[in-house]
Amino acid sequence: MNQKITYELPNGISLEIKREDLLHPFISGNKFRKLKYNLLQAKAENQEAVLTFGGAYSNHIAAVAYAGKEQGFKTIGVIRGEELGDKIAENPTLQFAQECGMQFEFVTREAYRFKIEADFIANLQQKFGSFYLVPEGGTNEYAIKGCEEILTEEDATFDFICCAVGTGGTISGIINSALAHQKVLGFPALKGDFLKDEIRKFATNTNWELITDYHFGGYGKVNEELIQFINQFYKQTQVPLDPVYTGKMVFGVIDLIQKKYFPNNAKILLIHTGGLQGIQGMNLILKKKNKTLIEVE
Ligand SMILES: *Cc1c(COP(=O)(O)O)cnc(C)c1O
Repeated sequence: MNQKITYELPNGISLEIKREDLLHPFISGNKFRKLKYNLLQAKAENQEAVLTFGGAYSNHIAAVAYAGKEQGFKTIGVIRGEELGDKIAENPTLQFAQECGMQFEFVTREAYRFKIEADFIANLQQKFGSFYLVPEGGTNEYAIKGCEEILTEEDATFDFICCAVGTGGTISGIINSALAHQKVLGFPALKGDFLKDEIRKFATNTNWELITDYHFGGYGKVNEELIQFINQFYKQTQVPLDPVYTGKMVFGVIDLIQKKYFPNNAKILLIHTGGLQGIQGMNLILKKKNKTLIEVE
């Protein structure tokens, strides 16, 4: 569903937002798209369990936990950060996943770096038995196929399509289904140059670009300006944004509009990839630091 954004914009520019965050009450936005064909594949392989990886506030972990419960899979989450095992009650994301029946394997940050090594996986198989493995962030060829369904015929009129980037899976699907006259702009939520290569692995078109100026210091990092922007954008448009991904992307697009990056009369589509479950966890962190909270409800 596309929603017009009523915002004062210069030079005849118009903005709409695709509310992928409303696809499902718990499996928000792009994680729903990324899991769809993975879970069909897990069923086709007769797997009873799905194992995946993520950080403390991961949207992907929450999505896998809920989708597993809904579709009758056991779920196992390999979580980065050994210390979190004692702190599930203080972490809304892990608590939610646990309530959905997810089993956790907490590993040190050091060990987590080796999570795609054969030894590491073999150890997990010994402990948990056979499972279907979904990579961190859910990105693989099945995920790309799901994300190719984000754009539809009604989107043909847009000149620019903008989305947040984490592992690059979502934007790859969007790039593959974008039309030749459209340009896809990705806004990485983290620092790092590896993303372009990741995207080239999956994307078949070349009409895309990464805008790397809006990561706000790195993955999960925020500042007062960003939080204030998210709150003000919500007041003005009633569209809630998350602080890790969509908030940074929309901040970037509005900033670029003001800096005249886009041509006059450009029609811009923002992809709301969801992630709103992360707000609660971020607010707990902000509260501890006596910072401004995210107020989007
Ligand atoms: C995971 C996530 C992304 C990043 O998606 P990738 O496919 O990893 O690039 C963007 N937005 C939200 C809300 C997410 O949860």
